[in-house]
Amino acid sequence: MSELSPILRDVFGFDAFRPGQGEVVEAVARGEDVLAILPTGAGKSLCYQLPALAREGLTVVISPLIALMRDQVRALRTAGVAAGALTSANTEEETEEVFAALDAGTLKLLYLAPERLATAGTERLLRRAGVSLIAVDEAHCVSQWGHDFRPDYLRIGELRDALRDVQIAAFTATADADTRDEIAARLFGTRTPTVFVQGFDRPNLTLAFQPKNKPRDQLLAFARARKGRSGIIYAGSRNKTEVLAQALRAEGISALHYHAGMEPDARREAEQRFQIEDGLVVCATIAFGMGVDKPDIRYVLHADLPKSIEAYYQEIGRAGRDGDPAETLTLFGPDDIRIRRAQIEEGLAPPDRKQADHARLNDLLALAEAPECRRKTLLAYFGETFEPPCGNCDLCHDTPEQFDATEAVRKALSTIYRTEERYGVGHLIDVLRGVKTAKVTAAGHDRVTTFGIGQEYDKGQWQTIFRQMMALDLVRHDPERYNALRLLARARPVLRGEERLTLRKDSVQRRVERRAVPV
Ligand code: ADP
Ligand code: ZN
Repeated sequence: MSELSPILRDVFGFDAFRPGQGEVVEAVARGEDVLAILPTGAGKSLCYQLPALAREGLTVVISPLIALMRDQVRALRTAGVAAGALTSANTEEETEEVFAALDAGTLKLLYLAPERLATAGTERLLRRAGVSLIAVDEAHCVSQWGHDFRPDYLRIGELRDALRDVQIAAFTATADADTRDEIAARLFGTRTPTVFVQGFDRPNLTLAFQPKNKPRDQLLAFARARKGRSGIIYAGSRNKTEVLAQALRAEGISALHYHAGMEPDARREAEQRFQIEDGLVVCATIAFGMGVDKPDIRYVLHADLPKSIEAYYQEIGRAGRDGDPAETLTLFGPDDIRIRRAQIEEGLAPPDRKQADHARLNDLLALAEAPECRRKTLLAYFGETFEPPCGNCDLCHDTPEQFDATEAVRKALSTIYRTEERYGVGHLIDVLRGVKTAKVTAAGHDRVTTFGIGQEYDKGQWQTIFRQMMALDLVRHDPERYNALRLLARARPVLRGEERLTLRKDSVQRRVERRAVPV
């Protein structure tokens, strides 16, 4: 639109829109309800800032991050735009100034912390102010089941109704189909927004997964080879972030830990050091990240499996925002699966929600155990088709061989069945391989029919097979009995021989090959 380009140039100092940006800006400027899913770095802020200036009235921006809001207000003011913020970080003067500008009707953009929506008087204030657009940043925070849920985001719907169906534009970098539906329902109510979805691919990110073997060694080897580069290492527990940071420092790598249990000052200091210093590695829980705006993070390593593909995508997405090559690596193992399933089961969510969470975990595990190009699997999850090879994932570099694992899996399932679903992987492998340990003989498992029928594979190969059985959700850990594997209903057709299974060979699968050669 012709009147938009001069604003883009004169106020923001840009010659052209980024790919995908122009269409969104135009739709918002036309007054349409918009839900835009744009990857990190696409320039989402401009998609509401520019229309705010092109339109009459006030644009209210809801954003979960006070620091980011303050940065944006500062930048807008420097560019000569009347912008202000109401957050808990305001000084009294700042607040007074905002109120005065609202009264005078001169303010164009008002940034509002979501907590503010719960404050008495906010609604009245905004009704008087003549709001023409509500822009919702990080709109996935409205998703009650997502990883960044903000209860106050649920009040945006009330505000929309109170302001008599004011226009809404919502933005996020991460939303699978379910989350998109949830955002639409909660923010737009009965109205249907125009949805924009733009390329999720981040070609400069190398994607890789590795089964945990000696996880500490794997992690240290990775970090050592990248000494001097900035990185984030995500770990599953607070304690582990501290232990890992310590281990890295012992290797001469400058490293910090970060988690939500730290004092606010210590957290802020860690964030600032990471922002400023070169070559610093932060070992963190997922508490670290939403506010991180460092363009040159060269790697993101997951020391433990993330929660879902969405969480994974969001977390690896923090690397390489400058567009230069950056690496990602995710370590995963049976313990991750067990812990995550237990978390889901022990949570307070209703049963259908738990089932959905298990399904999301299954999607992530399918990515972890993908047979070909990870980028293809990842993008397919977000509804994009991608023609492999991408040339920038571990599977494109070194495509794993697959093998028909139907018989092996049947033997394993039937061993679980015959030992009454009471044992862990180690014991089951002993039975399959016919090893008479004390535990095996004491339980009389040297007399079950599957004893010793799995000698064609060694221990490591069986571990690979069991891991993939868990990833396929054929078996799950029994929450009542530590490490014991139970059969799921979907194992039945495999057990009966009605379904064939193809699994990946890890590097350990040599013997299968030898057997495959006819003698
Ligand atoms: P997102 O929220 O989508 O990750 P931001 O809104 O923070 O992205 O924008 C990312 C960067 O891109 C910012 O530094 C912004 O100034 C810049 N940017 C946005 N739009 C343009 C454009 N049309 N041309 C050049 N740079 C842009
Ligand atoms: Zn690939």
